[in-house]
Amino acid sequence: MLELKGLSKRYPTGDLALNEVELSVPAGQVLALIGPSGAGKSTLIRCINRLVEPSSGTVTLDGQDLSSLRGKQLKAARREIGMIFQSYALVDRLSVMENVLSGRLGYMGFWRSFLRRFEPSDVQRACELLERVGLLAMLDKRGDALSGGQKQRVGIARALMQQPKLLLVDEPTASLDPKTSRQIMRLLVELCREQNLAVIINIHDVALAQQFVDRVVGLAAGQVVFDGKPDQLTDDTLTLIYGEEDWSAEREDDADSPDEDNDPLASIAKGAHP
Ligand code: ADP
Repeated sequence: MLELKGLSKRYPTGDLALNEVELSVPAGQVLALIGPSGAGKSTLIRCINRLVEPSSGTVTLDGQDLSSLRGKQLKAARREIGMIFQSYALVDRLSVMENVLSGRLGYMGFWRSFLRRFEPSDVQRACELLERVGLLAMLDKRGDALSGGQKQRVGIARALMQQPKLLLVDEPTASLDPKTSRQIMRLLVELCREQNLAVIINIHDVALAQQFVDRVVGLAAGQVVFDGKPDQLTDDTLTLIYGEEDWSAEREDDADSPDEDNDPLASIAKGAHP
């Protein structure tokens, strides 16, 4: 269980990016974090893994207060938090297998990681994960020889190699086409449910999030302004999160779009993009 209590962040520039955020995410729950640009989504994710120091409040993972950790303890706690990035963050010249295995580096001492001497059990797990994400046949390919969707599959496998308790996912589909985006979201959510992880996905595409996640949290000006099930997102709540917009007109305009026939909120999501 991840718990944020009274989490605030004021940058030295004076911007209050997070304002007393309260949020609990139980193991096994996949949560989409939505909101306009500048709402504080990235800051929230960065405060959880301490890439950004919160100004006040606490971040607790399974009872351990992460906000007070330093040095080795912080490193150990970070191992329990997997990250998946919009830009994939693979090492281009390394193979798919090496990229996935690098998810274990945080568990290894200096020399073992320097020499990349992985345990046989790590290699076994990497193979299992590569099979699960559909890339076992490509384990020898270089990172830079993959498509965007394949890179993100490697990113997912690498994050799961860490055996995290919590997964933080930053715009996982922003660089992908709509079909690949759905495949990646489906895979991500399936794997997280199988492994009973708490997951926060920072995502712009509201309709895509709605299809796959358990819960949606809307952030605006650093505050939680919506917290509910995906089907509770109405025009009013979207206005609350993103500001005034004629959502119904957006819906009518896009009613003929073949991709969005069964997905009326797809148009709302498009309208919501900054
Ligand atoms: P989002 O991810 O929702 O777009 P951010 O967390 O990036 O929002 O930004 C929230 C607010 O904090 C914005 O007003 C932004 O300008 C400000 N901000 C973000 N990062 C920094 C920084 N490193 N220094 C100063 N202000 C920042």
